[in-house]
Amino acid sequence: MPEKPNTLTFKQTLKMRRNYVGRSCKLHYEVAPLKIVRGSKQYLYDDSGNEYLDCVNNISHVGHCHPHVVNAGQEQMSKLMTCFGFLSDLQVAYAKRIVEMLPENLCVCYFLNSGSEANDLALRLAKSYTKNNDIIVVDHAYHGNTENLIKISPSRLKQHNMPIDDWVHVVPCPDVYRGKYREDNVSPGHLYANEVKVAIAKALDKGRTVAAFISEPNLTKAGMVFPPKSYLPLVYRYVREAGGVCIADEVQTGLGRCGEAYWAFESHDVVPDIITLGKPMGNGHPMSMVVTTKEISDSLKEFSSAYGGNPVACAMGMAVLDVIRNEHLLSSAKSVGKCLKDGFQAILQKHRLMGDVRGAGMLVGVEIVEDKESRKPNKDAAEALVYKLKEKKIITSNEGPDKNVIIFQPPMCFTCENAATVVKAVDDALTEVEEEDRQVSMSSDIIVPLSVITASKHKLSSDDEDDDDEYESPSKRFYEGVD
Ligand code: PMP
Repeated sequence: MPEKPNTLTFKQTLKMRRNYVGRSCKLHYEVAPLKIVRGSKQYLYDDSGNEYLDCVNNISHVGHCHPHVVNAGQEQMSKLMTCFGFLSDLQVAYAKRIVEMLPENLCVCYFLNSGSEANDLALRLAKSYTKNNDIIVVDHAYHGNTENLIKISPSRLKQHNMPIDDWVHVVPCPDVYRGKYREDNVSPGHLYANEVKVAIAKALDKGRTVAAFISEPNLTKAGMVFPPKSYLPLVYRYVREAGGVCIADEVQTGLGRCGEAYWAFESHDVVPDIITLGKPMGNGHPMSMVVTTKEISDSLKEFSSAYGGNPVACAMGMAVLDVIRNEHLLSSAKSVGKCLKDGFQAILQKHRLMGDVRGAGMLVGVEIVEDKESRKPNKDAAEALVYKLKEKKIITSNEGPDKNVIIFQPPMCFTCENAATVVKAVDDALTEVEEEDRQVSMSSDIIVPLSVITASKHKLSSDDEDDDDEYESPSKRFYEGVD
């Protein structure tokens, strides 16, 4: 008889994962994974009862297992869970509530289940409305895991060594810290926008047509890049002049994450033609949405989704909106985000490896570099820092094209006290990393990368990796001969 899942030891879980789960499904903390068994508010608990401050789970938007959201889901699950083209009060009420939070023209909703599905539908809508074909995307972006979305996600194209299709046009990431045009330019926003204008002109010259420009208003996946304010208004203008529409991917940034406003596009003074929402909507329950104009929506002949807009998701989604309002999470995100950013700013000059601090609300990034002058990305130090923070019971991650930006996007119930804890931990951990980095570069002619040192320190001991025959996969499909 197989063991019940919750009685597995850490080793058994690890081994079963190796045997039964796809090898390409990455684990956070690859060399020393965590087995998280419980979550509450901004905290996660591992199988040994250790408490971690969660700085990465933006999906658990209003806090892990928020009782109002859990109750709403449980109650609805015991009443009705079907989505077979019946009228649903919950669905229309949710759609109305979202539309009321948006500019007037964004008034038609589609319900789906993941950010990828939402972005895929957004592309379909753009193409059906404009009758055009090509898509303009920002370098380093990620928009989802379907075949089409991988093709418009430069971060994945590079990872998989895939060519860029003719219908995809990649424009430079408007990063004023380490990008093509930096903050010392008179108007980097105009220069980056001009790159889009040039890309459009080149596409039109080749006889191609532009269906859409898609980007996150604040580019989380590109390493917490906040474009200059003049960028998006100009880009949207150029795209529309070329007959395309503008899609704002608010999968990460939506529902108040950037503080103060519900949508990140608001701070850029633009109104998109299509927006896509996902992650935070159901506080972890799969739920996503496309919202667009009536004209664009009317261009699509048919759409269906078996689970999209099901009553359980809508009940939970409604509860999330209640919590955001009742617990004043927008203003809280703004002020707590400021505590976090100010805290990091205060230690910026002290640390040689700390290049830049940027963000808005509960979306903050710290760029780790070789030194302040060169601004060269320092992935090894960033990785070492992430593992050191794990030791200090703080969960974060190193992201961006060079994996050198430490990201902080915690549940929105994060407090200024939490922010102070994080800043102190980063200060201490960076001091240790800088000391190790200094010793490594002085110790020998063979430079051992910091990440290798980190990995060897954290790697599961050979004892941990001992085979436990009880859980040998019958088929041994994966990991044959590995480890
Ligand atoms: N867009 C952005 C900006 C994302 O960060 C993600 C997920 N990380 C997606 C789309 C895809 O969402 P999902 O994983 O829910 O399909």
